[in-house]
Amino acid sequence: MHKPMLAIPLALVALAAAPAVVSGQGGPSTRDMERLNWMEFREWVPAKVNTVLLPIGSLEAHGVTANGTDILAPVAMSRDIAARVNALVAPVVPYGITASLGAYPGGLTVPDDVFRAYVKAVALGLARGKFRNLIFVNGHGGNTAALNAVAAEVSEQAGVRSLVVNWWTLCSDVTLEVFGEDGGHAGENENAYVMAIDPTLTHPERYTPALATPNPPAGAWAAFPHPSTIMLYKDGQGYPKFDQAKAKLYFQKVNDKVARLIQDVVKKWDQAGV
Ligand SMILES: [Zn+2]
Repeated sequence: MHKPMLAIPLALVALAAAPAVVSGQGGPSTRDMERLNWMEFREWVPAKVNTVLLPIGSLEAHGVTANGTDILAPVAMSRDIAARVNALVAPVVPYGITASLGAYPGGLTVPDDVFRAYVKAVALGLARGKFRNLIFVNGHGGNTAALNAVAAEVSEQAGVRSLVVNWWTLCSDVTLEVFGEDGGHAGENENAYVMAIDPTLTHPERYTPALATPNPPAGAWAAFPHPSTIMLYKDGQGYPKFDQAKAKLYFQKVNDKVARLIQDVVKKWDQAGV
């Protein structure tokens, strides 16, 4: 909608005077669904908030950082962007489909059909809770195919709109911009994202480049278990370098890009009237 001329400078003044976006500011007392009571939830959903972020992860070895990287990243991301995209954050689905790294200690997988049925039940529950936009904030590549199928089914069956975001692929350009090279699974990019959340979770003293293997060209080979938990997207690029300043910058720029995608898709859904 076109705004009157006067409203634009006033809005800019208001934005400039406002402090950095804080979750809950001008919104509900918290953006975390499990921390809201039912009366406050009723006041906000769906009248003032109709988007929910559902973080989804898995337990899987990640080089010298946490096995729960794929849980921690989408949870931190969702909390950071929730106010910007005017969403609530649903409790995380922590268990996912861990395949070729499942043999490494501390990993855990659930069967594909169980994962699909469970995530679908959660998504249908969120739709019944009157959310209109379901955003699956995925932290784990092994979940992607199942999530795409579930998102399509839930949209069709519950009449809601769903979006699956795979941040590490969406933000490959941000990886290039911040690090000057491509990343990898538990590589410089993902390792940095965890360092930004909590630097104590990453252990450079345990790191050696021998922990990394470049991903095979399509069809070249496959190994079970995979020989490394650091899997480089491009040969010679993406080795972790443990730069905390870059990690903070990367965290911020990744979240900015994910937030922009969600804002853009929701806006276009609204404009299209779908
Ligand atoms: Zn990961």
